Amino acid sequence: MADCLFCKMVAGEIKPDVVFEDDEVLAFRDVNPQAPLHVLVIPKIHISTVNDLTPEHTSLVGRMYLAAQKIAADEGVAEPGYRMVMNCNAEAGQSVYHIHLHVLGGRPMSWPPG
Ligand code: AMP
Repeated sequence: MADCLFCKMVAGEIKPDVVFEDDEVLAFRDVNPQAPLHVLVIPKIHISTVNDLTPEHTSLVGRMYLAAQKIAADEGVAEPGYRMVMNCNAEAGQSVYHIHLHVLGGRPMSWPPG
């Protein structure tokens, strides 16, 4: 999508701080980190919200989680622990309408989230 920030990153028009990439997934550091490790894992195809996922995306969503698992291991938070979050729509706090998996770690996390 022409006006989507994350599609521009996939297209190379905006250069994020990339930590992982394969043919289906891109992962980069969040510009406003909420923890010592804060990475966003996105699909290379445009999907606006989790509500738009269909069964054909099953493998793609699995790839996103496997990318997060690898990033957590590479960044040294796999054993201490980390959190993965996907916000869906306004009430959950979604601000970029291209799905993304937040990967947060490097500090203790509280529950419930705010
Ligand atoms: P959400 O509020 O769940 O939609 O998350 C969107 C995330 O994108 C926020 O954590 C932002 O800090 C992050 N973000 C926005 N613009 C950029 C950017 N140019 N590079 C990296 N992360 C960004």
